[in-house]
Parts: sequence; C-alpha cells; structure tokens
Amino acid sequence: MTAAEKQHLARFLDRAADMVRDGYYSEERTYQFEDDPCPVEPAQAAQSGGGLSPAKDGLSQIAESIRSCAACPLHETRTNAVPGEGAEQPLVLVIGEAPGAEEDASGRPFVGNAGKLLDKMLDSIGLSRERNTFIANMVKCRPPNNRDPRPEETAACAPFLERQIQALKPRFILCLGRVAAQAMLHTDEPLGRLRGACTEAQIAGAAIPLVATYHPSALLRNEEFKRPAWEDLKLLKSRLGVD
Ligand code: URA
Repeated sequence: MTAAEKQHLARFLDRAADMVRDGYYSEERTYQFEDDPCPVEPAQAAQSGGGLSPAKDGLSQIAESIRSCAACPLHETRTNAVPGEGAEQPLVLVIGEAPGAEEDASGRPFVGNAGKLLDKMLDSIGLSRERNTFIANMVKCRPPNNRDPRPEETAACAPFLERQIQALKPRFILCLGRVAAQAMLHTDEPLGRLRGACTEAQIAGAAIPLVATYHPSALLRNEEFKRPAWEDLKLLKSRLGVD
C-alpha cells in the first residue's frame, strides 16, 4: 500500500470513529506513513529473473522474428519494426507503448523528444540504456498517425515481449504509460491507480517487481504529471540499490 492510500484509509477510519463516538468529525489528523516496500526486496530481486522459464532463443533471434512479423496489420504500414535495445543483462527493462515516426524511420526505440526526456529520467536515478537498462515497447511497429495500439495489436505482439523478458531476465520493470502498465498487469485499471506503488508482473513463471509511471510524451504535454512521475522514479530507485 502506498503512503497516500494509507493516509486515505486512516482518514476514513478516524472519521468513522469520530462519528460513532461523538456524532461529528473532529479535526483531520496527519500521520507519517511510508510506502510499503516492494514485494521483492533488492537481494531477492537479483534472482527474480531466475524464476523465469528458460529462454528458448537469444535477443538477436527474437529481434529477427520481430522484423519479419506479419501477425497484425501494423506490418503493412511500418518502415522498420523496433525490437528494442540496451544492456543484455539489464537491471531494469523499460517498456513503452509503440514506436513513433522517428523510431519507425530509424528502427530504434525512443529516439525522438520523448526519448531525450526518457534518457534524462533514467539518468536521474542512475540508469542508462548503454549500461544497465533495456528499452522496449509493448508493440513493435508504429500505429498509423500515432494512434493508441489496438488491443488485438498489443495481444499479437505480447509473445515477443515475453520472449525478450525470458532472454533478458530483468530484475525490475518500468512501464511508461497506460498501454504498457495495463498489458503487463493484465488489468483495465486507469494508470492513475497503477502508478505510485511497486507491484509485480507475473510473466513466464516469475514475479518481476514493476513500477508504472506516466509516459514521457505525456510529461511533455502536461506539466502536472512531472511531480508524480518523479515520485515513481524515486520509488524505483529506492528498490534498485544503485547510486
Ligand atoms: N513512444 C514510445 O512509447 N515508444 C517509443 O519507442 C517512442 C515513443
């Protein structure tokens, strides 16, 4: 449970007790709550990839199958599929939504403005795509006009991400935006309810600690998301054990 959720619950219980005892609410009390620790502590998290069923193929083989995939209509309009890139034994697997125009043109993930912001976000918590992070997307081909990926497109692409996770064995997952967070957590809950806590993705027989936050494109459009996104990054950093 997050500190905010605990405060909310405490307020509800205080109010209920006040009403039963006195018939009216007394002044609101404030408490010093902290977020619950991630279900998996860093020491265990180091082995969290170990619970994954063994990888059947390597990253370059998976990337090849992504580039030749024709499982959904997105292959007809793509210039390049974007399998992902980064460290081969990452501390964190970052999962975005789908490639945009620049990613489609280059075949590389997060190379546009959102990508520049993503690099700064990662750097602020000791991560980088060269050193300790792999950057992938839920959907590997660009949806026309940057529309949201359709559920059937996300479903068609999900096995690739699962194979990548088995090969990468990431210790943590960071989901950027609603599409990735909902798909990884198998839920329709809004992102506002999925972010702000460390949960777990159940994938290929393992539970991998996961933090969800706003997509960098959303941060570029809306200043209001910056503070909660920073809280999410700090939460992830507190679990990583990096300086
Ligand atoms: N947005 C994404 O979700 N992924 C990218 O690769 C680029 C922008």
